[in-house]
Amino acid sequence: MTLGEGDTPLAPAPWLSKRVGAEVWLKFEGSNPTGSFKDRGMTVAVSAAVAEGAKAVVCASTGNTAASAAAYAAKAGLKGAVIVPEGKIATGKLAQALMHGARVIALRGNFDEALALVRELVERRPIALVNSVNEYRLEGQKTGAFEVCDELGEAPDVLCIPVGNAGNITAWWRGFQEYGVAPRLHGYQAAGAAPLVHGRPVEEPETVASAIRIGNPARWEDAMDAVTASRGAIRAVTDEEILEAYELLGRREGIFCEPASAACVAGLLKYGAEGRVVCVLTGHGLKDPQTALRQAASVIPCEPEIEAVERAVLGE
Ligand SMILES: *Cc1c(COP(=O)(O)O)cnc(C)c1O
Repeated sequence: MTLGEGDTPLAPAPWLSKRVGAEVWLKFEGSNPTGSFKDRGMTVAVSAAVAEGAKAVVCASTGNTAASAAAYAAKAGLKGAVIVPEGKIATGKLAQALMHGARVIALRGNFDEALALVRELVERRPIALVNSVNEYRLEGQKTGAFEVCDELGEAPDVLCIPVGNAGNITAWWRGFQEYGVAPRLHGYQAAGAAPLVHGRPVEEPETVASAIRIGNPARWEDAMDAVTASRGAIRAVTDEEILEAYELLGRREGIFCEPASAACVAGLLKYGAEGRVVCVLTGHGLKDPQTALRQAASVIPCEPEIEAVERAVLGE
């Protein structure tokens, strides 16, 4: 069950490299079919669900898992249901899940509550759970690590990656290990949703980076083991730092990613790194137009006259 996922661009980042004093590369996972790295795992999880005879798939999601699950379920002819935190999912992701014909359920609760409920649901009903607690998801997602090593000809020294439910950092580490390499993992959480940094769950996670607004990561232990084994670290960045990196990526590197993705670049700018550094830009900026429009400069109104156009264009 494929939509052509993977093989995403790995672009050199000259401006960031200069600013950080390292050789920085950006792995743009936003160019996957539904606009996030979730597709790498979903192709495997939904294929397995079909093989196992499932008739429906379900997930809890901060948005991108929902968009991806809905698309692959549609392709597979399975029913799809996604449970998202009410009012907390970016517009683009919601539009995707609905367009792919999934039942979109807005839970009056947060992601952690949604995940607990779907885990209970699949105990009661024969529905495949396609969250990253599903091993097939990680098996697909680890391919990002293979691509980076293949393309660079060797492993990077450091991998910077945003961390929410902690499935992706776990998957990348699995990929590197299978490749026989061990870059340092620098994981970044939003300061308002940083359970792995504080060492305890966060009751009410809050951050502008809705994709990593998670207070009790399902892959907690796996992720911490990976970070420790790689001699890396999990650290926090504030929403202000995330939005600054988000804007810099758009203006200086020509890459429009979503705020959660920019968290890893915010971390790189804040804490630094040495050698060859790859940042995983997990999702496309078009997912969350509202945050972009709030952050960016405003549109310039203009009368249909040449002098007015001249002034508007030149900014005089
Ligand atoms: C899912 C997601 C993350 C976090 O990945 P985890 O596996 O939950 O740690 C980060 N950024 C984006 C855009 C995502 O969709």
